[in-house]
Amino acid sequence: MSREIIRVLLVEDNPGDARLIRELLAEVANGQFEVITVGRLGQGLRSLFAERFEVVLLDLSLPDSQGLETFTRMQSQFARTPIVVLSGLDDETLALKAVQKGAQDYLIKGQVNSNLLVRSIRYAVERHAVREELQKANLKILEQQKSVIEEERLKVLLQMAGATAHELNQPLSVLLGFTGLLKMEKHEPDRRARYLNEIEMAGNRMAKIVSQIQNIRHYEVKPYAGDARIIDIDQAINLLSLEDSDRDYEVIESIVKKMDKVSISRVRSISKALQRLEGGRFDLVLFDHLFSDGNGFEFLRQLRARHIKTPAIMITDKGNEIIASQIIQAGADDYIPKDALTEGALSRSIANTFEKARLRKDLEEVQNRMAEMATRDTLTGLYNRRFFMEALDREVARADRYEGDLAFCMVDLDHFKQVNDNFGHDAGDMVLSKIGDMLKKSFRKSDILSRYGGEEFAIIMPQVRETEARDACERFRKMVASHSFDHNSFQFNLTVSMGIASYNTVTEQSPMGLVKAADQALYQAKDRGRNVTECHNISRVRADCPP
Ligand code: GH3
Ligand code: MG
Ligand code: MG
Ligand code: MG
Repeated sequence: MSREIIRVLLVEDNPGDARLIRELLAEVANGQFEVITVGRLGQGLRSLFAERFEVVLLDLSLPDSQGLETFTRMQSQFARTPIVVLSGLDDETLALKAVQKGAQDYLIKGQVNSNLLVRSIRYAVERHAVREELQKANLKILEQQKSVIEEERLKVLLQMAGATAHELNQPLSVLLGFTGLLKMEKHEPDRRARYLNEIEMAGNRMAKIVSQIQNIRHYEVKPYAGDARIIDIDQAINLLSLEDSDRDYEVIESIVKKMDKVSISRVRSISKALQRLEGGRFDLVLFDHLFSDGNGFEFLRQLRARHIKTPAIMITDKGNEIIASQIIQAGADDYIPKDALTEGALSRSIANTFEKARLRKDLEEVQNRMAEMATRDTLTGLYNRRFFMEALDREVARADRYEGDLAFCMVDLDHFKQVNDNFGHDAGDMVLSKIGDMLKKSFRKSDILSRYGGEEFAIIMPQVRETEARDACERFRKMVASHSFDHNSFQFNLTVSMGIASYNTVTEQSPMGLVKAADQALYQAKDRGRNVTECHNISRVRADCPP
């Protein structure tokens, strides 16, 4: 934390409590904190609105607001300011609830000392800053992803254009050829009639291609002429109709029969529909509103519950527009009133629905990718460094608060460069991924595993003493040393060196202090010839961490 002044808004109605907190802050921080005190929630909200504060210390029990509501009201209006809750000894559970709802921390009045208070405020401010950074980074990722998607789209559009040109070329040359002939044969009525007929047929073929393009699902591509890929515009569309009235189904079926490359099957009940959708490949389902085993809402609910993502269009009775708009809110993609059901309306609705489904798929992909990028390393599936450092902050703060044990371990692969040099970079990647698997196998679920850098891994072991940590590390070290790695029928062995530091014995008690100490121990392990586990504290190496 830099030496900037931290502005604290203290919302506390009890003058004694407020004075104590101001005094505690003044005592240690030699002017680093500027504290503004107000006694009511309303005043607190107004102050936040008017001025910038780095942190709020919030008493939950105020003259104009009591309990958890005090916290939720402030948080809902000023989500960007971190809040530390002040509670009495008898409402600690309430304070814990506030923390679950997003408060940064809580302090129990009468038990705070200046150290605890300052640390709590600093962590709140720091954590908040990290989170803001993360949010910014995520926005950046989103921007990047957007431009990637736009590029993909453009590619698809170009492919479509290519496919269109290819398909249109043949009827177009027929059309132009016969138009030319027509001009030359001015005085032969028989031939003119035949040519006109050919031209009309070519025109119809072109119209059909255009209508196929309008219904295309353009994320499906098929191989075409070597490596280039073009869109398959001859794809068939499979519809499922959920319709209990025979008369209505006949209407739908007669329309679908007129459409090219569209086939339709029918079921009469929701249960049958779900069975068919789970089993078969349908591109789209058309459904009515009322069935023997439920209504359209029930049907959509069941689709969601079973993770069936097939797009769904409702075909409703005349006059049911209110239900129709509700059903769209419930997750249907479109609706068509029965009296407006024509071939044009249905194919337009299908085209729109596919477009929507495609966008949904894009969005899901982006969201997945973003989530992955934010926390996991893709090669090993372990946490990435950024996430890991946040976790380390949290665990160190916890160890501080509860004076608990916390062990930290750095792992570095020995002579890993040689694996790349001798067997190739792919072999190296395979080893890293395998090491990730072994880490997951040999450490506890409560331990936090990460890929710290290229061929370095780090492990946080909450509530674990140095001796226990050493046992766990030794188990892992031996597992690696006895494993025979296998790549392209080459077999080879590999070892790891490990450095352990424990929070209670490091001199610099901070996340970075812990990392540095473990790094030093790791350096010693390398120095001692590799394939060993070393502990940070030399005196303790002899006591409970013998080589
Ligand atoms: P030491 O025992 O002293 O640690 O020797 P070392 O070769 O393991 O250490 P050094 O730092 O010299 O080399 C690390 C190598 O790890 C170099 C780098 O190319 C390789 N590396 C880092 N990240 C990756 C990766 O993602 N994939 C592969 N295949 N290699 C990687
Ligand atoms: Mg109070
Ligand atoms: Mg290294
Ligand atoms: Mg190495």
